[in-house]
Order: sequence, then structure tokens, then C-alpha cells
Amino acid sequence: MSAPAQTGSVSEFALIRRFFSSVGASREDVLIGVGDDCALLEVPPGLGLAVSLDTLVEGTHFFPDVDPESLGHKSLAVGLSDLAAMGATPAWATLSLTLPHPDETWLGAFARGFSALALAYGVRLVGGDMTRGPLSVSVQVHGFVRPGAAIPRSGARPDDLIWVSGTLGDAGLALRRLAAGEALEPGLRARLERPIPRVELGSALRGLATAMIDLSDGLAGDLGHILRASSVGAEVDLAALPLSPPVAAVVEADRDWGLPLTSGDDYELCFCTTAEQEPLIAALGRALNCPLAVVGQIRAAPGLVTRAPTGETNAVAARGYDHFPDET
Ligand SMILES: [Mg+2]
Repeated sequence: MSAPAQTGSVSEFALIRRFFSSVGASREDVLIGVGDDCALLEVPPGLGLAVSLDTLVEGTHFFPDVDPESLGHKSLAVGLSDLAAMGATPAWATLSLTLPHPDETWLGAFARGFSALALAYGVRLVGGDMTRGPLSVSVQVHGFVRPGAAIPRSGARPDDLIWVSGTLGDAGLALRRLAAGEALEPGLRARLERPIPRVELGSALRGLATAMIDLSDGLAGDLGHILRASSVGAEVDLAALPLSPPVAAVVEADRDWGLPLTSGDDYELCFCTTAEQEPLIAALGRALNCPLAVVGQIRAAPGLVTRAPTGETNAVAARGYDHFPDET
């Protein structure tokens, strides 16, 4: 947090000191944290550093009137979900915050939401930047994983089972309801605004999952990344998709699986294992109190195929949300 820009009558440095100098857990591997030119951090010997950066932009990723405490939570949660998807254990975060004006009430609420989630996962905020402009939040997360134990997208093999955690389409339904000005079913707003990253599950799958990704852009698109990286295809059984009651009701009414297949922001994990490991993974889900469902199987032939409850199969585009659909 070194740029000398003034964000208003209160200096950037005063705001950082007040709201961001002690966010999250205290950690012995943070030799120097917020307040110097750089943070100085110590990676444990033998471990790799897993790094992921995400930006959330007003109007693209959240509504202008979003609750700042929820935004603080979500801006860290999306990064922790990426660490979970590699099997990495979270350690540190940096934050770049662009604000139209230095609203201290807003900043206090944002820092509260960010810090509560950081504390829950032992993460320390170690530095960042604050500038004036249209509201956007960038968070970089750092975690540890033994290089040989990280779970990439590229390890899925034919006949592997495809698993997902939690339920699919809840955040997409919440977004649809909010955009239409409709009332939200109980619990749905939290699924969109306060996703819980599957950190414990991700690290427990080290040595068990052959491939893994987190569901940020929808199952079809994110599973598609695994399929391409692994040079395989998949068949997904639509009747096996885990749905909350409100999403199940919409799928039934619309006769359309688009919500659980292609809506994003669920931050569940999608992973593959060999079929022999099914009982072990099911037991792991129970031990972690994390719902897990087998939703399909990897095939040697490329492409993503869905099987409807009627038995009818359909090839679907293995694509999720794309910010630049016409430009690539
Ligand atoms: Mg991801």
C-alpha cells in the first residue's frame, strides 16, 4: 500500500492504518506485513506457493448497492475457492481497492467481512493498494501445497467419476431474482453474496482427486476446462445434479437445466476420482459434513454429453461465462 494518492480529506495511509493494518489471523510466517514497501513472507521449506488473483468490478460482478460486508467476504472467498481447487492451504492475501470516495462506514463494513473470513481460514492480509476510481476489488491469495500433491485440471482419466460438492445453480437463481426485482427464497442471497469456499474439502482431496476445479463459471464451462486440460470427454447425468429445493422447482417449471449447468458463482468444487475410491470419498464427505454427489463419468471421446432422466443424450457446449465472448 505504497502509492501516495489522496482518496479525499482522509489520507490513503490513515485509512489503511485504520481499516487494514491488522486484518485476519496473525501468522509467524509474516515477517513484515502491511505498512512497508513490500510484505516479507516465509514459505515453509519443501512447499510450493499457490497464487491466484481475482478482480470484482461493480456492475459486472456485483450490484452497486451490494452490502459492503458481504463484498469483503466474497472478494476473499473467490480466491480461497481457487486455492481449495488446487488442494492448497490458504496463508496470505493482498488487496487492491479502488473506491469512488473514502466512505469510512463502507470501508469498516468491507474490512469486517474480509477479516471474518480471513480469520476463519487462518489468512493474514499482508499488503495492497488503495486508489480512487469506479468501485472494484482485486484480491490475490497465497497458499501452500507440496508441489507433487497439488491437484491440477489435467489429471482426469477415462472412467473416473465426476463429483461436485454442495448444490448447483443457487447463486445463479439469486442473481436472476435480484435482476428481476423478485423476492429471494430463504438462504439464496447468502449463496450469491457469502459463498463458503470448500477449503477443508480441497486439501482433504490431496492424493485422492485426479483433477479438480472450482465452479465459478458454471458446471459445463468449468468441467469443460478439466476435459480440455485432460484431453478427455464426459457424460453428465442430469438427474444426479445436486439441487436445492428452489433450483429444483425452477428446473422443473422451465424444463431447462441451464441454471445448474451454466450459471456461475457457486464456488463449489468439481473433481474426479477413480471409481474404486467412491466409498472413501463418500466417507470423507460425511466426515467433513460436506454434501458430495457423483454427477457423471469421464469418457475417452472428447466433448461433454448430458443424459436426461428420460435417457436422451445431448451434446452441450462445455462453456461457462466468458467476459470476452466475441473477441477470442
Ligand atoms: Mg477457479
